[in-house]
Amino acid sequence: MATPQQIFREKVAQQIIKALEKRRLAGTYAPTIAQAREEVAALIPDGSSVFRCGSTSLVEMGLWERLKDNPRITVIDPYLPEYSPEEGLEARRRGLTADFMIASSNAITLDGKLVNLDGMGNRVAAMTFGPRKVILVVGMNKVAVTLEEALNRTKQVAAPMNCIRMNIANPCRETGLCSDCHTPTRICNMWSIIEGQAVKDRIHVKLVGEDLGF
Ligand code: SF4
Repeated sequence: MATPQQIFREKVAQQIIKALEKRRLAGTYAPTIAQAREEVAALIPDGSSVFRCGSTSLVEMGLWERLKDNPRITVIDPYLPEYSPEEGLEARRRGLTADFMIASSNAITLDGKLVNLDGMGNRVAAMTFGPRKVILVVGMNKVAVTLEEALNRTKQVAAPMNCIRMNIANPCRETGLCSDCHTPTRICNMWSIIEGQAVKDRIHVKLVGEDLGF
């Protein structure tokens, strides 16, 4: 039997999906991470190239391992351990013309706005223009009531957590709090707020009923 949290999250997700559709974005809901993984994999036809962007959510859900099972899909992965920094940058450039990019967002509002914050900017660039299709997998733990709440969650929760995850020596790694640093390794350089899409359904948001990423 579904728990109150599962029922609540599905009902809220359905409202967000309606808001996304008004903004010309597609939205679907998967109650579990396992279901989301299979549904996202099914969206990618054989012969496609897929740009991998930095995302804890996608690693947690095992998506990249799942896609490796299909030799007919080419993953453009800037994070290959054998890549030099220059080769990683080159892969990020190539990814901008991939058939698909798959990532997450840092927050989504009840009225369907997607908030993102990048250090280098390749993720927000690809979401905005370039890849023909964009799939964003967003756990319901990232839902914010208002845009202000979404911006705060992004800067005060997601960014410090990412510095801790990647062990980047910014002040938030030590304190857990953003001090609006200006270090060379600052990961908070490029904001994007997606409020709509000129090419209808180019962006597909897969909401997930379990906690995913941060
Ligand atoms: S601006 Fe600096 S201190 Fe603040 S969250 Fe980003 S990296 Fe951390």
